[in-house]
Amino acid sequence: MKIYEYQAKGLFSAYGIPVEKYVFCNEAGAVEAACRELGTDRMVVKAQVHTGGRGKAGGVKLAKNKEEALNYANAILGMTINGLQVRKIILSEAVDIESERYVSFVVDRNTKSALLMMCAEGGVDIEEVAARTPEKIYKFPIDPLIGLPDYLARKYAFVLFNDLAQVNRMASLLQKLYQLFIEKDASLAEINPLVLTAQGNLVAIDAKMTFDDNALYRHPDILALFDPAEDEKIESEAKEKGISFVRLSGEIGCMVNGAGLAMTTMDMIKLYGGTPANFLDIGGSSNPGKVIEAMTLLLEDPKVKVVLINIFGGITRCDDIASGLLIAFQQMKTDIPVIVRLTGTNEKEGRELLKGARFKVAETMSDATRMAVEASKN
Ligand code: GDP
Ligand code: MN
Repeated sequence: MKIYEYQAKGLFSAYGIPVEKYVFCNEAGAVEAACRELGTDRMVVKAQVHTGGRGKAGGVKLAKNKEEALNYANAILGMTINGLQVRKIILSEAVDIESERYVSFVVDRNTKSALLMMCAEGGVDIEEVAARTPEKIYKFPIDPLIGLPDYLARKYAFVLFNDLAQVNRMASLLQKLYQLFIEKDASLAEINPLVLTAQGNLVAIDAKMTFDDNALYRHPDILALFDPAEDEKIESEAKEKGISFVRLSGEIGCMVNGAGLAMTTMDMIKLYGGTPANFLDIGGSSNPGKVIEAMTLLLEDPKVKVVLINIFGGITRCDDIASGLLIAFQQMKTDIPVIVRLTGTNEKEGRELLKGARFKVAETMSDATRMAVEASKN
């Protein structure tokens, strides 16, 4: 689960991590009052969306006075950043930046532990730093039994700072961020940039956190922060219907039974030069209702040019699935090409049922993927 920057900053404050003063705002009409509440002339207007790269997209603007802030707020409310509509902003007190650093804790699969990542060159170009000069990003696995005691926190703080007062501030910040990360079952706690101000203080002027969905049941306070944007609600609605669905940016809609097979299908599409529009796992069911739900999800996306249905019949029989598909498509009005690959239990019977219908039927995954990629290019 993702949360907004202002929500993450709320958690930072609760854990004693320094953040600048900010005011939340979700309508243009409330901006003026927010400016007054902030009580300063130089302020930053920041889009609140569940994506990074807001600065580069024009969603972070430094204003010199209230008029500028109002103009920026109006422009940013209603912007689209990485496909997400901006409906919320914060106004924050502008900070005098001396230098920007990068700090994060993530769950690392390789070391099976939390991983501390730090870089002296933080800010909006961190992806470029990671790509061009990966050696500038320091990585320290945290032993879960040892955690981050003073001596380790200081050792890591020295990587980014020389001044002793700053090292001590940084060490304490690392410990607090780690405590937050662990206590709330986060999968990411990121500060980029962590700013050294002209006055020598450390301030987290950006905050990003995501949480492990499977642990939310034991964190009602975090769950209460759940606030998906309109565009993101589709995924949680699908989840309630028993469908795992993640929307992507490509053209081939996928309907697959099983998460592993769904991922393989996406890999195959890439291999043959196409782009998947989504990850969709309908689970182990041949229920026509579920097929209709899944198809509706796929067809809501205007980018989808073709649908690839990839089914492995294990306990679910292919002929059951074929009947389900026939019933579902009798009720649906779409002329989008649909390619079906059925394999496993009763596959011959299944394919026989689909003969003469509107589907293009393939036997192997390669054939099906090739057909789908071809259709997506037409
Ligand atoms: P992101 O692009 O989504 O990561 O948004 P950030 O919150 O990190 O802001 C992007 C950039 O805007 C930062 O790296 C800073 O360089 C700049 N910025 C943000 N807040 C301030 C501020 O208070 N003062 C100044 N001078 N720059 C800021
Ligand atoms: Mn940032």
